[in-house]
Amino acid sequence: ENGVAEEIPALPFPQPVKVQDIRHTKIFIDNEWHTSSRGRTFPTFNPATGVRICDVEEADKEDVDKAVEAAKAAGQRGSPWRRVDASSRGRLLHKLADLMERDRLLLATLETLDTGKPFLQSFFIDLDGSIKTLRYYAGWTDKIHGKSLPIDGSFMCLTKHEPVGVCGAIIPWNFPLLMFMWKIAPALSCGNTVVIKPADPCINMASGLLFQAGFPPGVVNIVPGFGPTAGAAIACHMNIDKVAFTGSTEVGQLIKEAAAKSNLKRVTLELGGKNPCIVFADLQLAVEETQKGAFYNQGQCCTAASRVFVEESIHEEFVRRSIENAKKIVIGDPLDPRTSHGPQIDRQQFDKIMDLIESGKKEGAKLEYGGAAVEEKSLFIQPTIFSGVKDHMRIAKEEIFGPVQCIFSFKSQQKAIERANSSQYGLVSAVFTTNMDRALSVSAALETGTVWINCYNALHAQTPFGGYKMSGNGRELGEYALAEYSEVKAKNTKT
Ligand code: NAD
Repeated sequence: ENGVAEEIPALPFPQPVKVQDIRHTKIFIDNEWHTSSRGRTFPTFNPATGVRICDVEEADKEDVDKAVEAAKAAGQRGSPWRRVDASSRGRLLHKLADLMERDRLLLATLETLDTGKPFLQSFFIDLDGSIKTLRYYAGWTDKIHGKSLPIDGSFMCLTKHEPVGVCGAIIPWNFPLLMFMWKIAPALSCGNTVVIKPADPCINMASGLLFQAGFPPGVVNIVPGFGPTAGAAIACHMNIDKVAFTGSTEVGQLIKEAAAKSNLKRVTLELGGKNPCIVFADLQLAVEETQKGAFYNQGQCCTAASRVFVEESIHEEFVRRSIENAKKIVIGDPLDPRTSHGPQIDRQQFDKIMDLIESGKKEGAKLEYGGAAVEEKSLFIQPTIFSGVKDHMRIAKEEIFGPVQCIFSFKSQQKAIERANSSQYGLVSAVFTTNMDRALSVSAALETGTVWINCYNALHAQTPFGGYKMSGNGRELGEYALAEYSEVKAKNTKT
């Protein structure tokens, strides 16, 4: 039922490559690869097969200390990095993007092995997004400038934008490469240095590329390790000036607390979401886009479209078409370019999602499609659709981080907006309508950092991204992110 493979042309799709050996699994400090201070490694597994991919050197506090020392030295005034012309910083970012383009098939293959996401999604979305983010911020390097300000009295004020210093970054497992580039690209564009901790179970692919691109030693340092050890060491480090975090709201709170109690480092947080869509019209487009939003990356997205409010008169047809649309999803080996739905990342996430699906059934939502594990494929979960969902149910309130679409019906626009906004989260939302006035008034009323009108997951390097309420602080991407990575110095001179 879940595989209409014949409908999908076999070629000329990009194809995954054979991975001979996984290189660069070590801690990367000062442009050198190091083993763990405590002599520990951790394994990474392919979630589609359970097969071990490789062992990664595990960084702990001591390794983070060394990485921060290297990053601090690399960012000192007069250092090779600080003396690189702004335009040459842009060339280095372009070089990194060139190398990713060169290795695109290999990187997409590794991303799929590591996360279980379908190969074509890795190739077209993760790689494309990573490369475009690097190129976008490469273009900014020599356009980051201050102002001369009109001020009272005989004074002249000039402002200058300087790097913040050492930027820590802590990233999740759902988009390992893309999140890496979202963090380092604006930081390097503004002239900072970086210490970055990838998610626990991930391969660490970027170090070889950074080395080949020619960044001076210490500019980017990579410390693979666990959250409570390496991650916590970053959050409370006295020589880290800013930390950028993507992950759960609970850990985001810990990061902010640790930052406050150590050196008051700047914090930007990109956290969870329980993202509402409000559907008035344009039925087929809304069915396809909201479902893409719900099931993309097996629902493991902070932007997952997990609450879909549909106007009462079109609700029944919307549900019917959503079921038809879900039948086209191809569950299978993520390395097969025809696959559109892979496994969840690990057993813990799988159990959490299945528990929430069970709660939906028990609390009286109507299971319209899916709702079970895919037999004999251990971490795969069927794309699942519930209708008749009520606002008090767990599936209506908790972030599921799995392939579960919850459909609600509504009568009045005002009530739909109130229900959409009644969440601790405020990351993204969407509205589907052919009425421009309605599109503008509803998008104005939605309390989220992004509102998509007649589309979903339209993320671009140029567009700021971040959350209202408990979905985060600050903005990533676009020109707005530059402010998060710059200090402003005001120079007042007597004239
Ligand atoms: P998480 O918040 O536990 O982990 C994200 C990152 O933070 C990882 O690198 C982790 O090692 C690190 N970390 C964990 N504990 C830490 C600590 N005490 N101090 C410093 N760093 C720490 O998220 P997860 O375990 O990867 O997933 C759990 C839930 O988080 C998911 O179910 C989902 O709801 C949410 N999540 C959200 C996003 C997002 O993009 N917003 C991404 C992944 C997960």
